[in-house]
Amino acid sequence: MRVKNIVEGVLMVDLEPSGTTGWLATYVILRGDSAAIVDPGPKASLESYKKLIDALSLDRFKEVYIVLTHVHIDHSGVVGDLLEYLPSAKVLVHPRGVKHLTDPSKLWSSSLEVLGDVARLLGEPKPVPQSRILVAEDRAGLNLGDLVLVPIYTPGHATHHVSYMLDPIGILFAGDSIANYFNERIYPVTVHPFNGDEYLSSLDLMLKLRPKKIAVTHYGVITENPDVFIQRAKDKLISWTYSISNMINEGVLSVEEIYHSILSNDVELAYAKQLENSMPAFRGSTYRVIVGLYNYLLYKLKRANLATNPQR
Ligand SMILES: [Zn+2]
Repeated sequence: MRVKNIVEGVLMVDLEPSGTTGWLATYVILRGDSAAIVDPGPKASLESYKKLIDALSLDRFKEVYIVLTHVHIDHSGVVGDLLEYLPSAKVLVHPRGVKHLTDPSKLWSSSLEVLGDVARLLGEPKPVPQSRILVAEDRAGLNLGDLVLVPIYTPGHATHHVSYMLDPIGILFAGDSIANYFNERIYPVTVHPFNGDEYLSSLDLMLKLRPKKIAVTHYGVITENPDVFIQRAKDKLISWTYSISNMINEGVLSVEEIYHSILSNDVELAYAKQLENSMPAFRGSTYRVIVGLYNYLLYKLKRANLATNPQR
């Protein structure tokens, strides 16, 4: 387990789920009587949590919030188990995420479908009791001592994705709504069920928020020029969209071919692909990113064709 101070009372923690270091960052805010854990991670993090709860005395805070950017098993899978160790904790989530917390069976089957063995590595989520859930309303801030954590709806990566702005210090916890970020290399998180138009609108919205720092789940904190970071994610999404659309129009219909073409032209994605060898929980991730965008673009194309050539 690695713990780093971002600013006074805001920590970045790597719980090294499934023995994977440098892949998933959880953020912990400790302020007055209140504590918040942003994106606690997969079930595979549970053993590390027992140590973290002890080390930070998390069970002694009057108010503890588990704050979710979205309900995907790598971000939220541990919640059901974690609540048993934090008896006063409440879970904050987008209204559309609630049903996947109280009954994770559909989430689990679609995780197995999309992630395969990686899903088994991350672990099957336990149901969360309805009574422990708070709904995150857009812009309805949560007080944490002298700070306010403000939910900002940022759909695209998932329809129910929420980012959180920590005011007044200006840290934006962006989950998967902007980009994956490994050693300065970045690329948008376009895995299924991705929506490109929503993702771009959310990037524009976050640019307008002018965050001072951006904390992403995979992996770390952008302290310098966060606006450039968002712009880079936007540029890359636009350029991938252009390349993949061209390949589809030219009749390249094998997604493997498209993946290898993007990989050979994009040093940032190629760098992430290399990391997959040493990160078990990250395996197959770069491929899934391209498949997600490809499926979205194909869907859009079919819809457009249907609009111009309606079948009778
Ligand atoms: Zn993720």
